[in-house]
Amino acid sequence: MSVEELYRDVILDHYRKPRHPGEIENADAKVEGVNPSCGDELLLTLRWDDDTVADAAISGSGCSISQASASMMTDKIIGMTADEVRELVGRFKAMMTITDGDPGIDPDRPGAALGDIEALQGVRKFPVRIKCADLAWTALEEVLTQHSAA
Ligand code: ZN
Repeated sequence: MSVEELYRDVILDHYRKPRHPGEIENADAKVEGVNPSCGDELLLTLRWDDDTVADAAISGSGCSISQASASMMTDKIIGMTADEVRELVGRFKAMMTITDGDPGIDPDRPGAALGDIEALQGVRKFPVRIKCADLAWTALEEVLTQHSAA
């Protein structure tokens, strides 16, 4: 099995079996994301326990890239502190946009240490689909902004 096939399987697995689907009751944050160019839409709900992500869920519909990215993201951030989430968002964005030598990032494996999320790094070859992969993460950035303003 090639790396591409492995990545595709990881993406399809998250698409078919989203890890944290639906909406959280008593959510502290609710942020919608829409990607008109592809028709993806999602709603991220998240609950903080002080400065730690207590729970997060995604509802919505769209292409496999957008939904799988959202599933991977929720799976990863639950239990993280706001600072850790901020760092993760930075790593994800770097993985999708890497052009030159960021000292913290291996150019051949920019998604290393991201777990399943690394499977999305192939998407950066297809600029139209980067917006699909980014959608949930842009919503998460808004949640972080709201949290730090609170
Ligand atoms: Zn899409």
